[in-house]
Amino acid sequence: MNRREFLETVTAAAVVPAFGRQQASSNEWGSPVFDLHFHLRPQPASNLAHLDGAGVTKANLLTRGDVVAQVKALEAATPGRFTWFNSYDVTRPDAEQVLTQAAKAGAQGFGEMKFHVAADGPELRRIYGLAAELHVPILVHFQEVDHFQNEGTWSTGFARTFESILKAYPKTTFIAHADAFWANVSADYHDEAAYPSGPIKRGGVTDKWLGDYPNLFGDMSANSGNNAMSRDPEFTADFLKRHQNKLFFGSDCSCSDGHGGAVSQNNNPAASRLAGKCVARETLGLLKRSASPDIFQKITWGNVHTLLKIPA
Ligand SMILES: [Zn+2]
Ligand SMILES: [Zn+2]
Repeated sequence: MNRREFLETVTAAAVVPAFGRQQASSNEWGSPVFDLHFHLRPQPASNLAHLDGAGVTKANLLTRGDVVAQVKALEAATPGRFTWFNSYDVTRPDAEQVLTQAAKAGAQGFGEMKFHVAADGPELRRIYGLAAELHVPILVHFQEVDHFQNEGTWSTGFARTFESILKAYPKTTFIAHADAFWANVSADYHDEAAYPSGPIKRGGVTDKWLGDYPNLFGDMSANSGNNAMSRDPEFTADFLKRHQNKLFFGSDCSCSDGHGGAVSQNNNPAASRLAGKCVARETLGLLKRSASPDIFQKITWGNVHTLLKIPA
């Protein structure tokens, strides 16, 4: 669909009364839910279909490139349901300029940053600096193990080098996500699998750095977050308690209806444990079982409003 068609569709959809309906402040999860990690879908109604199907009140759209008109149209048709982040190829010379423009146009953060570069390389470093300068958070995908042949790795070197970045950019708000971030909750992880299983060995760098660095936050989305928090219930309850102010619920779910329709973890055969399931529903259920109502509310709603400086 091109931009003109998108705008026509969203305008037409806006006149259907139920389309942009704001959900009641409490819902099937007991309190409203904000999905920090939701990739913008080309069809306007399919964005809402996932939120409404999964019982999600609001979501943060992760976008790439020039999407301002598309996002504004969706926001106008669905008041109060969406915020947005923007991303752009960090290897291109105009990355800083384009991302600055996006922030000026209303993007509330940068992300998801998912590129075949080193986490401490010059391409990302300049964007870390820019995020601090513009007072917006930056969401980064860390992955060291391919999900399929020749996928390549993303923001590499997390466990080895990212502490130096946390120290070098104290004014940057980092939201870490994906396989390497979540596998490193366990101290015995050495990049042997995308999604390690079994009990967690205490003292992993992810756990340690969330405690030590006020500028590091965790995005619980995708199979990576769900898998890590499903390994060891005793560890999970304690981890959520200790980092209750540093974690955000997110889905990264690509299912069609908020109930596991179509494919929930696109292009990711290694995440087959979530096939036929909605990642949002699975992780919300897991959080509900693992945390007190108060902590659940922070992770799924309160923390992100503080992060984005928006009223809850
Ligand atoms: Zn990702
Ligand atoms: Zn889903």
